[in-house]
Amino acid sequence: MRMARMVSAQDITSMHCGGSVACIFEPEGPTELAGLLHEHPDLLVLGGGTNTIFGDDVFTRPVVRLGAEFAFVEEAPGGIRAGAATSMKRLVSYCIRTGLSGIEFMAGIPGTLGGALYMNAGTADNGIMDAVIEIELTDASGSRTLARDRIDCSYRSGGIPEGSVITAARLSLQGARYDEVRRNVLAFLARRKAQPRGFSAGSVFRNPQGHAAGKLIDQAGFKGRRIGGAKVSEIHANFIINDGHASTADVRELIRLVKQGVKERFGIELTEEVRIVGQ
Ligand SMILES: Cc1cc2nc3c(=O)[nH]c(=O)nc-3n(C[C@H](O)[C@H](O)[C@H](O)COP(=O)(O)OP(=O)(O)OC[C@H]3O[C@@H](n4cnc5c(N)ncnc54)[C@H](O)[C@@H]3O)c2cc1C
Repeated sequence: MRMARMVSAQDITSMHCGGSVACIFEPEGPTELAGLLHEHPDLLVLGGGTNTIFGDDVFTRPVVRLGAEFAFVEEAPGGIRAGAATSMKRLVSYCIRTGLSGIEFMAGIPGTLGGALYMNAGTADNGIMDAVIEIELTDASGSRTLARDRIDCSYRSGGIPEGSVITAARLSLQGARYDEVRRNVLAFLARRKAQPRGFSAGSVFRNPQGHAAGKLIDQAGFKGRRIGGAKVSEIHANFIINDGHASTADVRELIRLVKQGVKERFGIELTEEVRIVGQ
């Protein structure tokens, strides 16, 4: 098993801020992973780091990132089976190439399949859990497979049991023409062209029931508001952009101000979609 010490959080997250991570393990299979979980019950799982922000201090909890053995896509009954470390980009490309339809809405969402399942990532209308047939999990006691109807997922929550690491999933996809899948993917990618560029973790807040978080933040007057190197995007107010010099303290303070402003103006409590871990 590979292990890296004192890794800069800026190098392993899309927000590019935070201090160092004391120790990152990279197991190469479920048996190594189960042993690791047994030894370190407080392990934090990291996928592509596109929804995770580390604090500015050294993060002392052990972190696990799934190794190359967990990055694969293969045909399986009902659709495909893919490893949790597979990037969403690779998965969507595979679907285009092989003419499989059902997850085109994931086009352009960065990160890994594991992170997407944990977050139930997707669009306002779809989450990736809609396509799940079953999920393979490993915890300290070993590996098991959970059928979709035994998982209680919801908006931006895959409902994955605490202490479990997703290692793979079988997704339900339908055969379609190559050009049809490609056209759908391109349409979803085109919608993303309007998204802000730069270092970010995507949408900072979940959309409250019946509202768009970005619209509330905009109407509360926060577009362009800056703390240190962190700024509420002028293009989409639910994005905070790091200009390259933001600390996580800057991001946290901006989040606190936005939440307070939206609460005062609309009486609505925003909750974070991004995961900020450590101090
Ligand atoms: C520019 C940009 C655009 C984005 N657009 C969208 C969007 O349109 N829709 C959307 O939903 N999200 C979006 N996101 C957010 C993010 O990309 C998704 O949530 C993505 O699915 C997270 O994947 P990841 O591998 O990077 O997860 P990470 O950030 O690494 O992890 C996210 C969470 O999942 C857990 N986790 C990761 N892997 C596993 C595993 N194998 N087993 C158990 N738990 C695991 C982590 O512990 C953490 O709590 C965007 C982000 C960016 C930067």
